[in-house]
Formats: sequence, C-alpha cells, structure tokens
Amino acid sequence: MPPTVFDAIVAGDIPCDKLYEDDRVLAFLDINPLREGHALVIPKKGAPKIEELDPADAAAIMTAAQQIVPRLVAATGAQDATLAIHDGPAAGQEVPHVHLHIIPRKPGDGGGPIHALFLEDRPVVSGEERAALAAKVRSELVAEAA
Ligand code: AMP
Repeated sequence: MPPTVFDAIVAGDIPCDKLYEDDRVLAFLDINPLREGHALVIPKKGAPKIEELDPADAAAIMTAAQQIVPRLVAATGAQDATLAIHDGPAAGQEVPHVHLHIIPRKPGDGGGPIHALFLEDRPVVSGEERAALAAKVRSELVAEAA
C-alpha cells in the first residue's frame, strides 16, 4: 500500500492537532469536522481494513477512545458521542488507513443515529434467513478458531 496522509501525520511530515499518543495509536482533531471536536484515532501502523490490523492495535484504538471520549465530550460541552469506522470504500472510507471517528454529540444536533444512514429500502429478512446467515458466519468463525 502507498503511504496515506495519516502515515505522513504519524511520521510528523504533516502537522496535526494531537489529542493523544502512545506506542500504538495517535489521536488528533479532524481537519474538516462534522461537529466541534470531531476527532480521529488511528493505529500508527496503518492498514485499510480492520481485519488487517494487529489485534493489539485494534484493542489499543478502543482503549484510547475510552480515555479520549469523556474528555472531548466535556471540553466541547457535548453530552455524548458517535463512534464510527468506515471500513473500506463502499462504507465511505476515503483514507485507506483504519481510523475511528469520534464525533461529540448534543441533543438535537441534527446528526441522528447510525440508523439514519438507511431510512429507506431496508431489507425484509425472515427469522429463518437471519438464523441461516448467523449460522454460516458462526460456523466459519468456529472452523477458523479450531
Ligand atoms: P473517511 O471518510 O472515514 O476516510 O474519513 C477521513 C477523514 O480524515 C475525514 O473526516 C477528513 O476530514 C480527515 N482528514 C483528512 N486529512 C486530514 C488531515 N491532514 N488532518 C486531519 N484530518 C484529516
């Protein structure tokens, strides 16, 4: 993979408004915030998809978020936060380097829940179809763990 803009930030070649850093992760404010305090938590060793991350890096992202979220929410006068990952281009990913978006949220801020992404054309799925899909994925997970 060619280096991403986030690799350049990790290397110090592009500046950022840093919130947090440890051996595995870096967190900084988004340059084009959706709401005040919009931040990104990235693994220093980047990969486009979550399954390609070192599991320790994946865990470190969420551990960092646990520390960052309440402080960012308080600092921006928000109440809560939306956390999201665009895991690949079909999901809206523009920078192919896994990053957790943290968006501070206020009541009535107009953002809505993640369900607002799909207000129309929701699939009608029967209980049998849901069970079959769950069984398929579960069996692959069990087989790979064996
Ligand atoms: P995504 O669509 O999930 O790939 O989001 C990429 C995010 O990276 C966007 O919200 C951008 O505003 C943000 N971004 C891109 N370049 C920079 C940068 N140099 N510093 C901070 N945030 C950036």
